[in-house]
Formats: sequence, structure tokens, C-alpha cells
Amino acid sequence: MVSESPAKRKCLGGDCDNDAGTLQCPTCLKLGMKESYFCSQDCFKRNWSTHKAVHKTQSNFLSNLIPPKVVSEPDPVTGNYNPFPTFPFTGSLRPVYPLSPRREVPKSIPYPDYWKTGIPDSEQTFKGRTKIEILDKKQQEGMRKVGRLAREVLDIAAAAAVPGVTTDYLDEIVHKACLERKSYPSPLNYGQFPKSVCTSPNEVICHGIPDQRVLVDGDILNIDVTLYHEGFHGDLNETYYIGDKAKADPDSVRVVEAARESLNEAIKLVKPGALFRDYGDVIEKYAKAKQCSVIKAYCGHGINSLFHGKPNIPHYGKNKAVGAAKEGMCFTIEPMIALGTHRDKTWPDDWTSVTQDGKRTAQFEHTLLVTEDGVEILTARFPDSPGGPIPMPVAAVETNGGNGVQCDGKS
Ligand SMILES: [Zn+2]
Ligand SMILES: [Zn+2]
Repeated sequence: MVSESPAKRKCLGGDCDNDAGTLQCPTCLKLGMKESYFCSQDCFKRNWSTHKAVHKTQSNFLSNLIPPKVVSEPDPVTGNYNPFPTFPFTGSLRPVYPLSPRREVPKSIPYPDYWKTGIPDSEQTFKGRTKIEILDKKQQEGMRKVGRLAREVLDIAAAAAVPGVTTDYLDEIVHKACLERKSYPSPLNYGQFPKSVCTSPNEVICHGIPDQRVLVDGDILNIDVTLYHEGFHGDLNETYYIGDKAKADPDSVRVVEAARESLNEAIKLVKPGALFRDYGDVIEKYAKAKQCSVIKAYCGHGINSLFHGKPNIPHYGKNKAVGAAKEGMCFTIEPMIALGTHRDKTWPDDWTSVTQDGKRTAQFEHTLLVTEDGVEILTARFPDSPGGPIPMPVAAVETNGGNGVQCDGKS
């Protein structure tokens, strides 16, 4: 084979009549232009300032010809990708796939009924009934035990939630800690949820799916743990500051501490006879005082041998929930509080719920047992539990009220 001789070409230099040599412009070569020969290095250098304009038109032409890099293409280094590249995300958070393979649960651990199909048949059966289950002493002891185990698992996950780890790593930790306690991680395959825990950073309200996203200093992260142990579910969550930056961010502290305190305030009301509709009034009043809003789309719930049962506990004010607490009932209160709008939007994974304005949101949850004269917090913190309340950063005191905090007053 013979190649075409470059000697037949003319030098590209605008002021040059020579035949071209073998020298080609390296930039043109990179851009895929094959016909840019010059007679000499000197000629090439002399003509550079005019010649380089060709590169610009060519790269524009190429970028029009070749579609921009599709985000769903796996990153060549990590293999990670965004599964919904065209979805209009509300904030800066993106899903980072692939999800890890489904984690296994040994057959020796009792499974809830939905473990295989994803459908909680027993909850469906109870759905039509308005009766709220009253637990006897033995059942209460079962709830007490699973509540304690769930707290242990949440604390283990919280201690591992530091900048640089992925939420999938937290899922692995939670999964293992559940198995060590002869417990099934309740979220796994509940309604086909793919993982063993919900991890909800920043603008995620709830039901975030653990994936390959790495936690960064300045994130806030809700970890929602539920265990199924000896026939009972125990459910709790907390929001944690990741690294030190979030602790210095007045908005993050405001929303996290408002969520924490609003739950504490609501729990103070719980006793036999207390109306289910009243918790929302207290929570919303507290949230509004901190210029925050209350998410309406998700409620607290009855919990016992069922993950989610009666009653429904709305967290917003002036709700119309029917009924009152009785001794022996178990339910959760789990307010989700937002810096901006209370309106939510769900990602195409059908789980991840985010705020419509992309602003941050925080949540806390306890499983509660109504006692003879009050309430027992079955998922209460231990003296050495990670997390816990922090004061507003000092800078916030100076600017407080002066920078027009966003508040959705429509709820
Ligand atoms: Zn719950
Ligand atoms: Zn929960």
C-alpha cells in the first residue's frame, strides 16, 4: 500500500505559496481534521494566530454533530451514572448508580410477609379496618425489645456517617447490624424498596435510596432505620450533621433543630385520651416559629406486627385525623420540616421524595407506646448515642431576621 504524498498539497500558511511538508497542526489532528499541512515549523508558527480560528469553528461544528456527553453514560473512572439524566431535579442532589446488588437475609431470621413479593399482605387486610390494635403486656415487651435494637442499629449507622463514605456503605452497615441482632431490616423489599435503610440527604424529605453518592462535609443526612424482630417492627430516624460545615450553617441548624424539637414537643402531648389531630398543631406552630414549613405528604403511623398501620398521624396543623390514644397503642410521630416549601416531588425511582424548591429538609422519628398515664419512647436515645442537639451558630444570631428567611405560610 502506498500513502498519498503530502508533497502534492499546498501549505496552509496564508502568506505561503510553498508545497506542504509532512508537518500537521497538532490541534487540528486532535479535532479530527486531517488536511492541515504546513511547509515548515516557522511557517506554522507565523500563521498560528490566524490559523487557530479554524479550531474554534471546528469544535463548535463537532459539538453540534456529536450530542453533548450524556450523563447516563457511566463515568469512565468510577462506572457510576445518573439513571435519570433528563429528569428536572429540584436541587443539586443526583442519584448515583449503579445500586449495589440486593443484600441477602439468612433463612434463620424470621421474615415479614412482604419479603418476597414486596406486597405487605397483612397491612392490606387491616387497611379497611378502623380499629387500632391494643397490645397486651407480652406484645408491649416485644415492641420494647425491637425499639431498643433499632436504636442500637441507628446509632451504629450514625457513627459511620462521615464525609467520604457512600450511603450504600451505611446500608451495608445497617444490614449487617440487623442480622447480628437476628432482625430483618424492614425496609428491604417493603413495597419493593431495594435497600435495608432509607438515607435522605439535604433536600430529600424521606425514602432516599442508599447509592454510590459520597457524603460531603456540609451535608445533613437523615437515616431511617426499621427492624423486624420476633414479629414486631421498631422504627426511628434522626437527621445528622455530616462533618463540621453543616453545624456552622445557620439554615441547616435551624431546620434540623426545628424538626428535632417539634417531635419532642409533640411527644409531650401523648397520653391516653390525647387526640391524634392535635400533634400536628403543636408541630406546625413550632416549625413556623422557626420560619420553617411542615411536609404534608407523609404521616406517622401505627406500628406493631405491621410496619405501617392505623392510626395515621399527620404532622401539619388543623388536620382532621380521627381518634385518640389509648393505653397499649404503638405509633410513630415523625415530622418532616422544610426550610422552604412544604410541597414535595418524587424522583422517577418512585421512592426518593424531595422538596419542590430544592431547599433542605430534616426529620426525626420515634416509636411510642401509650402507657397508663403518658408515653414510653421505645426508641429513646442512649446516653452515648451519636448526634444530639447543637446550638445555633453564632453568625446566625447577628443576621437573624435580617436576611428574609423563606417561609411558605400557605399551609
Ligand atoms: Zn415510620
Ligand atoms: Zn422510619
